[in-house]
Amino acid sequence: MDLGIAGRRAAVAAASRGLGFGAATALAAAGVRVAICARDRERVEAAARLLGDDAVPIAADVGSVGGARGFVEQAQAALGGIDILVTNAGGPPPGTFGTLDVEDYLAAIELNCLSVIAMCDAAVPGMRAQGWGRVVAITSIAVRQPIPYLILSNTARAGATGFLKTLAGEVAADGVTVNSLQPGLHDTDRVRALGEPDTSAIPAGTIGSAADFGAVVAFLCSEHARYLTGTAIPVDGGAYGGLL
Ligand code: NAD
Repeated sequence: MDLGIAGRRAAVAAASRGLGFGAATALAAAGVRVAICARDRERVEAAARLLGDDAVPIAADVGSVGGARGFVEQAQAALGGIDILVTNAGGPPPGTFGTLDVEDYLAAIELNCLSVIAMCDAAVPGMRAQGWGRVVAITSIAVRQPIPYLILSNTARAGATGFLKTLAGEVAADGVTVNSLQPGLHDTDRVRALGEPDTSAIPAGTIGSAADFGAVVAFLCSEHARYLTGTAIPVDGGAYGGLL
């Protein structure tokens, strides 16, 4: 299917591997020029080579407001502007209410909520001015169904989702869509490090791949999805059990 976005310009955060790399791969395959970031320069350069000659690697840490904004600004400078923003970052450490301090929440909220706001703050005004834009945020199924021992992630990603929903309503009339994707279990380095995944509660019977996830990101960025905004969509093989 022609997604209708060949020649568009995308900034994909935290994308040297995993879901971010899957998103960047699918966008590049659709003819989009991509700028990707990760903290490690060598790794992000190696990933960009896999994406193609015109992919732009940027060494940036999106775990702070300044780093997140700086990534988008460097991507805009390298590509001559941004049409598509995919926000992403690593996840915060595990823990419970009893084991964590308030300071841990500050760091997690900066990593998984304020960084999303900062990237949008840098990218969305240009999208509104040109009358076309796509924002896709990678969050977690934890927004719908909080995951035990991940109280930091559960808290920060819920905040990001509230921001994104509100932003979507403010910018829809300018041709800018804003959606979030909520991954369930996907086969990435992060998940592999946790050991053999339990697929018994996944109706699809398997965990997803980064390519599966990237294909959904690319569709949300397509011309076909121009009337789809303000949504928060589980991508989890049917694992989430609620009606809404
Ligand atoms: P991953 O560890 O496989 O890849 C993470 C990528 O982000 C890497 O390229 C890494 O270099 C980069 N990165 C990490 N922290 C960064 C930072 N501060 N600044 C810049 N780059 C950074 O992880 P993944 O499995 O692809 O997960 C991506 C996001 O999705 C995470 O926030 C994770 O918590 C969330 N998530 C993943 C799953 C899953 O099943 N894989 C499920 C739910 C939520």
